[in-house]
Amino acid sequence: MEDLSKTMQKLMSQQHLNDNYRQLMAKVYDDPEVNKFYQANKDELAEDVMTRSAAKLYEFVSEREKLAKGGETFATGYAPQLIVSNHLIDVAYVPTADTLEKQAQQQLRQRVKSIAMPKSIREATLANFDQDTDRAEALMAALDFVDAYEANPKRRHQALYLAGSFGVGKTYLLAAVANQLATDGFSTTLVHFPSFAVEMKNAIAQNGVAEKLDALKKSPVLMIDDIGADAMSAWVRDDVLGVILEYRMQEELPTFFSSNFSMAQLEKEHLRISTRGDDEPLKAQRLMQRIRFLAREITMVGVNRRPQ
Ligand code: ADP
Ligand code: MG
Repeated sequence: MEDLSKTMQKLMSQQHLNDNYRQLMAKVYDDPEVNKFYQANKDELAEDVMTRSAAKLYEFVSEREKLAKGGETFATGYAPQLIVSNHLIDVAYVPTADTLEKQAQQQLRQRVKSIAMPKSIREATLANFDQDTDRAEALMAALDFVDAYEANPKRRHQALYLAGSFGVGKTYLLAAVANQLATDGFSTTLVHFPSFAVEMKNAIAQNGVAEKLDALKKSPVLMIDDIGADAMSAWVRDDVLGVILEYRMQEELPTFFSSNFSMAQLEKEHLRISTRGDDEPLKAQRLMQRIRFLAREITMVGVNRRPQ
């Protein structure tokens, strides 16, 4: 395009206005959009603007036509727009509706950070959550949370602890809440806890523990998926999970959980016994207190929805 402008300018400066050029420009000067723009901004424009800005006007009309035909424009994803610049007419490139939509989608995706979660969580929506009677309570509680949180994100909101057997849709519901919050402008981190625990152990060697821990501690909304699915070491329980929950409790940051265990089972069958086999009821109790402060238990029952 730069080249074209230069060529046009050269043509004009030579005052060598041959027939071809006149034909070309007649179309530009007849263009309804060009005329409308000229009329609307006449007061600000130089008297000889139509000749001095001829190259820009030509650029505008030809790029607009290329775009309308579905061709590649000078700036992909952007459409030409006339603007006033220094008493002359210039062309600015603004994102097309398509581009804006893509950018919005991208921003939305960035609001849901996921750690070791399946890609399919992107598709989960509250609207598509099947409302059989078994799961209505969980859906209602999720909708209530979204409403309350969005109305007042700085206040304390108790989140949900979704308990239920494999395949009832716990992860799906968490993801649907995260996606809804993202649509409305709020960020969430969803973490598959057993995988995260492994990542944390590996991070020790690379000195990356604090950084990884911080991301979870400080996420505006945190969802800890599948807690209790794998045996936890005392270190993961106390120095990872315990630290995250302590911080979130103090800062009153919403924290969801999902588990195949009920809260009572999680305490007695999971948190109490470390991988070394030590029985530590007090540590388990302290952790459960934090979990109970952060979330309320909802039991989800129903069929296994996983494709068999
Ligand atoms: P859980 O986390 O309880 O084990 P998931 O959330 O992974 O269960 O759900 C199991 C499967 O069923 C997944 O493939 C999920 O996409 C699908 N699923 C769950 N709930 C719904 C729903 N309400 N509508 C459509 N698909 C669902
Ligand atoms: Mg799950």
